[in-house]
Amino acid sequence: MPVLVMKFGGTSVATLDRIRRAAKRVGVEVAKGYDVIVIVSAMSGKTNELVGWVNEISPLYDAREYDAVVSSGENITAGLMALTLQEMNVPARSWQGWQVPLMTNSAHSSARIEEIPTDNLNAKFGEGMRVAVVAGFQGISPEGRITTLGRGGSDTTAVAFAAAFGAERCDIYTDVDGVYTTDPRISSKARKLDKIAFEEMLELASLGAKVLQTRSVELAMRYNVRLRVLSSFEEQSDDAGTLVCAEEEIMESNVVSGIAYSRDEAKMTLISVADRPGIAAAIFGPLSEAGVNVDMIIQNIAEEGRTDMTFSCPTDQVKRAEKALEEAKENGDINYHDLVADTDVAKISAVGIGMRSQSGVAAKMFKTLSDEGVNIKVIATSEIKISVLVDRKYMELAVQALHDAFELDKAA
Ligand code: ADP
Ligand code: ASP
Ligand code: MG
Repeated sequence: MPVLVMKFGGTSVATLDRIRRAAKRVGVEVAKGYDVIVIVSAMSGKTNELVGWVNEISPLYDAREYDAVVSSGENITAGLMALTLQEMNVPARSWQGWQVPLMTNSAHSSARIEEIPTDNLNAKFGEGMRVAVVAGFQGISPEGRITTLGRGGSDTTAVAFAAAFGAERCDIYTDVDGVYTTDPRISSKARKLDKIAFEEMLELASLGAKVLQTRSVELAMRYNVRLRVLSSFEEQSDDAGTLVCAEEEIMESNVVSGIAYSRDEAKMTLISVADRPGIAAAIFGPLSEAGVNVDMIIQNIAEEGRTDMTFSCPTDQVKRAEKALEEAKENGDINYHDLVADTDVAKISAVGIGMRSQSGVAAKMFKTLSDEGVNIKVIATSEIKISVLVDRKYMELAVQALHDAFELDKAA
């Protein structure tokens, strides 16, 4: 029988009533003749609570124990979803990641999926089971320890299952009815897109649009999974939501297709480091070894052989970055005057494949922000995106002003 993957995010399984509603949607697809793999997140707020407990007990925690704790929210919803389906007379059972087993590498708290054997689930489908409910976000390492896939990782679980089982489609049910030109919570003018290209979705996700985890888009693109984002709160037709698809499937699009923001970015500046060959390697080597994901980098012009080096990294990695750099200083590998962390910043990005062929986007972006009196602290660009770091208090203003300036409320 054809396989469909349906993923329900935290708000879609937040209460028993919502689990019942989600289960009904699953029942509709089963009645159409699909074998369904349901991927569930933890109830909304649960993972944050678990992360909070870990941080309170151990700020520089052992990531293996972090994973043991934060993966647990999904165990509850998987079991509850299977029970709800059984109550509706749909043959279903739940699976935790290790039972499948969803095999990952050992990068705890941000593990990558290595393999999903299909025989266990297929054997059960063969015996008449119609729905396999799988706990999202979790897997097992080669060492036999529980791993998690990074925040928002259930999206990636869903796409990986769709690829492994050759699913007809992977439907991501969430609390908005698709992918918008920007976060609809920030701008009332945000417009829902019927389709978005993999590349654009990949950039938007990696630049902060948490509607899909970045890795899930990467996998969908690589394995050509038909990926759809839609609401679990409304009755859905077969073409509802937003389809994430190949560029060729999209006829018209704006030069800029979306604005993303991230408030989880910190700006760190090393004051007065020696400007010598090898200095960048001496700074960013230890950071990378400490697992710090450096994003933007600027090195200022040197004066009298010394310079300031600024970089950005996720806010929750600031402590790790400080520790790594202080150790490098103690070892004599680098020498700096001071290390200043600014966590009151936000990254705003404009994304669009149209930028490949059209110039002037950066100029328009900078002019718009300057007209609003917003100072730009760091800039980074790539082929299809421009990102700036600004004071966090201007974040919403900047998103709205750019959304207006690029006329994203109007279709191409
Ligand atoms: P789930 O719990 O279902 O995984 P998430 O909270 O992870 O849901 O993702 C959905 C949220 O993503 C929406 O509520 C919305 O606020 C946010 N979001 C950010 N950018 C966008 C965008 N461009 N389009 C749609 N939603 C977005
Ligand atoms: N529950 C996990 C999180 O909140 C995974 C997910 O929901 O995708 O990050
Ligand atoms: Mg999510």
